[in-house]
Amino acid sequence: MKKFYELPDLEYGYKDLEPYISEEQLTIHHQKHHQAYVDGANALLKKFDSAREKGEDFDIKAAAKELSFHVGGFVLHRLFWGNMGPADKCGGEPKSTLAKYIKKDFGSFERFKKEFSQAAVGAEGSGWAALTLCRRTDRLFIMQIEKHNINVIPNFRILMVLDVWEHAYYLDYKNVRPGFVDAFWNIVNWEEVNKRTEIWLESPL
Ligand code: MN
Repeated sequence: MKKFYELPDLEYGYKDLEPYISEEQLTIHHQKHHQAYVDGANALLKKFDSAREKGEDFDIKAAAKELSFHVGGFVLHRLFWGNMGPADKCGGEPKSTLAKYIKKDFGSFERFKKEFSQAAVGAEGSGWAALTLCRRTDRLFIMQIEKHNINVIPNFRILMVLDVWEHAYYLDYKNVRPGFVDAFWNIVNWEEVNKRTEIWLESPL
């Protein structure tokens, strides 16, 4: 039985990230934009299935590029929803394992926050800031992802992402991306980001 991508439910209500992300903004982002990557990826899978059944060729170069874009978008949005939550339970600073890594690698949470914010604000065009951890050097790395797939380091688990495509903030912040980036820190679900860090550290290399 062949499977397809499905839009995941959010673990909170559309209003629950207010005032940092409005109900309208979050609803459109999840139901329209994330859904578009689900649909785009599934359309490709159907195209592959159909061509293979009929023994037809397709443009593998174009298809592989599109697949990377749509699946990248699907995966990053899933991670993004999960690393946010209502401000009364989120924001502030991380604790435990992640806090120790931030202190070791950046010197302070403030320094980390500054660099991650700069990566988000400075992402060229449509992109993401992402936090990952290199298992070989045991260091936290910040990735600045363009689109959904460019500048990604292969096989590095993503611990936290911030979507800075205009579709993520335009209704609430218009062109002021730094305002959205500042707001994000109030709704970071550090418990989840820390859990991802610990799972990654325990995973076999
Ligand atoms: Mn998005």
